[in-house]
Amino acid sequence: MTPAYSSSADLTHFINGQPVAASSGRSQAVYNPTTGAVARQLQLASADDVQCAVAAAQAAFPAWADAPPLRRARVMFKFLELLNQHRDEIAAMITAEHGKVFTDAQGEVTRGIDIVEFACGVPQLLKGDYTEQVSTGIDNWTLRQPLGVVAGITPFNFPFMVPMWMAPLAIATGNAFILKPSERDPSPSLFIAELFKRAGLPDGIFNVLQGDKLAVDGLLNHPDVKAISFVGSTPIAQYIYETGARNGKRVQALGGAKNHMVVMPDADIEQAVDALIGAAYGSAGERCMAISVAVLVGDVADKIVPKLAERARTLKIKNGMELDAEMGPIVTREARDRIENYIAIGVEEGAKLVVDGRGHQVAGFENGFFTGGTLFDEVKPSMRIYKEEIFGPVLACVRVADFAQAVELVNAHEYGNGVACFTSDGNVAREFARRIQVGMVGINVPIPVPMAWQGFGGWKKSLFGDMHAYGEEGVRFYTKQKSIMQRWPASIGKGAEFVMPTSR
Ligand code: NAD
Repeated sequence: MTPAYSSSADLTHFINGQPVAASSGRSQAVYNPTTGAVARQLQLASADDVQCAVAAAQAAFPAWADAPPLRRARVMFKFLELLNQHRDEIAAMITAEHGKVFTDAQGEVTRGIDIVEFACGVPQLLKGDYTEQVSTGIDNWTLRQPLGVVAGITPFNFPFMVPMWMAPLAIATGNAFILKPSERDPSPSLFIAELFKRAGLPDGIFNVLQGDKLAVDGLLNHPDVKAISFVGSTPIAQYIYETGARNGKRVQALGGAKNHMVVMPDADIEQAVDALIGAAYGSAGERCMAISVAVLVGDVADKIVPKLAERARTLKIKNGMELDAEMGPIVTREARDRIENYIAIGVEEGAKLVVDGRGHQVAGFENGFFTGGTLFDEVKPSMRIYKEEIFGPVLACVRVADFAQAVELVNAHEYGNGVACFTSDGNVAREFARRIQVGMVGINVPIPVPMAWQGFGGWKKSLFGDMHAYGEEGVRFYTKQKSIMQRWPASIGKGAEFVMPTSR
């Protein structure tokens, strides 16, 4: 078998069980963000390549949909075993192209594997329901069937975990899947393809289409693509949702975020500092569940800001493969420059720059895309650095007088992905969870990413569509319900009936 993933060659598509070169002649550099050097070239799809991927998936779909769920689950169990054997290899691949520290990449791999474990239970997840004798001699039941060819379009920040939010459940429920990964760190997608193949997945059921907007538009407009799962920034999520829906597809489109952490005066301050530092600067703030706003209630700010400043200044920023690294580089030079530009905007807007991470250099990696941890205090809700997603290691502190103001602030924000409240008062915690207009809430938990069986999704501009990723909603997203009502000749009465059938 030709390996789908090889560390030297150009990165290609993976279609119908094989690596396939792009026919466009277009390609794009993939960088090592730690050194700043070009690592590999990524071949980008043409419109013909989209046709080819969809045709392969469409041809493979009927036999796979017909396979008993238990047989599909056995492939998933084998895939799980292979993932476990190659955990660290995948994590190193993530660090090499994304830049996040290796231990964090290991966590990403584990959270992705969680969903594969959930998908192994697909026979149970697909069990329908049955009612005997809904009318005399008549039974009624429901079952769920796969949709056909479905596609996943994924962001750079979790090049393994986010594809795992989608592909295992889509495939276990009997669909054929096309992954369009981020152009910035596409290698894990090909390694996933290789492991699926080694696990015995039939050719054409998991395909990788490398590319940019042209590939995405091809999938959005193809009549044989029945559903699209998207994770990425809000403007693109909205575009995917609107275009996909207009073309009659099911769409779940998860967008950007601006996650707040409210610190109440009764919170354990040391715990809150640890939580804020980890959640704001972990993965260099390039997480959709990163905390980018600290909402400091009452006298908390004066106690906590000096401690945050001290920790932000002394973050261990280095090559992510060094085991004590706390923060690695930013994914690309453009992303780093964009983050540093936001810091300049914050200064112009009048926020107090307590720690300035701009221009941070790491010895031996002077061309790497590094920036340091940045901390702002006295940020106002009218400022762009408060309203917009920066997606970098920049923490904005907003001071409010009381709990009511904190809730009002969070609820007025256009994003509603994740939120946290640190408090030692059970009633405050309960009221916070009830009143807050955000999809995923942490009580003394800074990054409340739901487990594999719970489902992931924000509110407001953080999610377009109504179905969350993975969990039971993921199963519903990738299947359609059919209701069957049956009776047999012995119980059929005589004559045509002209009234609405009712239970008799
Ligand atoms: P992005 O929106 O730039 O890209 C996401 C995907 O969309 C990529 O595959 C990309 O190729 C494609 N794409 C980009 N521009 C496009 C266009 N004009 N038309 C069609 N397709 C296009 O996002 P990113 O920078 O890779 O990832 C970071 C963003 O993702 C952040 O906003 C982050 O909050 C968000 N994110 C959200 C979640 C969530 O669960 N809500 C999870 C992870 C990341």
